[in-house]
Amino acid sequence: MRWSLSLRVTLAIAVALTGGMRGVESRGDDGDWAEIHESGGFIFRSERSFPEWRQVADELQTLRDDIASELGIRTLGGEGEPRIQINLFKSHRTYARHLASRAPAGASRPACFVQGPDLGRVYVVHHEDWKTNVRHEVTHALLHQSLPFIPLWLDEGLAVYFEAPRETRAQKHPYLSTVRWQVRFGWRPNLIDLESREDLSDMRMADYRQSWGWVEFLLHHSDESNQLLRRYLAEIESDTPPGPLSSYMKDSMPDSGSAFVRHFKSPRRY
Ligand SMILES: [Zn+2]
Repeated sequence: MRWSLSLRVTLAIAVALTGGMRGVESRGDDGDWAEIHESGGFIFRSERSFPEWRQVADELQTLRDDIASELGIRTLGGEGEPRIQINLFKSHRTYARHLASRAPAGASRPACFVQGPDLGRVYVVHHEDWKTNVRHEVTHALLHQSLPFIPLWLDEGLAVYFEAPRETRAQKHPYLSTVRWQVRFGWRPNLIDLESREDLSDMRMADYRQSWGWVEFLLHHSDESNQLLRRYLAEIESDTPPGPLSSYMKDSMPDSGSAFVRHFKSPRRY
C-alpha cells in the first residue's frame, strides 16, 4: 500500500510484544542479515545487498534535523542517546516470519515501528518505494523517542507529512491535490471526529489524508498556526498534557475549519 501503517504501542505493550527481544535481537543470533551498518544513531540490518546505506543514513539524519527544526522539538540520536534500528527485508515472506513471534500485529502490514525498551525498531520490506516507508516509520520512531505521548491522528499526520522526500514535502505531496480538490467540492474537515480515533484499526485512508491536511495547514498557513503547533508539541514534550488540539486552539483560532478550507483553496504561497 502507498501508505504504511505503524504499530503505535506503548512501552509496556512493546515490552510484552517483544519479550526477550533484546537477547533474541542481538547481532548475529537472529535473521539472515547480509549487511549490518551503523551511523549517526541509526543501525541498519539488511537481508539484501545494501550498497546505498550511507546515502540512506545521511537522508535520515537530515530528516531528523528537519523534524527538530520544523516542529521545534529536540530529536535524539546523539552520542549515548537512544538509537533507531532499521530492519530491511528482502520479501514480505521473510518480514512476516521475523515479526510473527516478535510483533505479530505488524506481520500483515507493509511496514511497522515498535518502540522497545532499548531501541526504536523499524521493519520494512524492500520494494520500489521502500524509502517512503522508512521515512514514515522513522518519523514515528523519532517522535516517540522525543515525546512522552502524542495523539494518534497527529502521530500519523506528521509521519505522512515527513514520509515525502524533502524536495516534494511541501509543494508536491501526493495528498495535496486530493485535499485541494475535496475542499473545492465542499468537503469540510472535522478535527474532533479525527481526535476520537483511538486505535490504528480505526484509521481509514481518509483519516490519514485529513491528518496530513491539519499538519500541512498548521505548519504553513500562517505564523500564528505554525507557532500554535509548536506550542502544542512543546507542552507535550515537557509532559504537560495540553488536551485535544481542537480545544487547545479554540481561543487563538476559533474558526480553524474555515481557515483550513481557505488554506487549501488558495494558491500555494511556498
Ligand atoms: Zn504511521
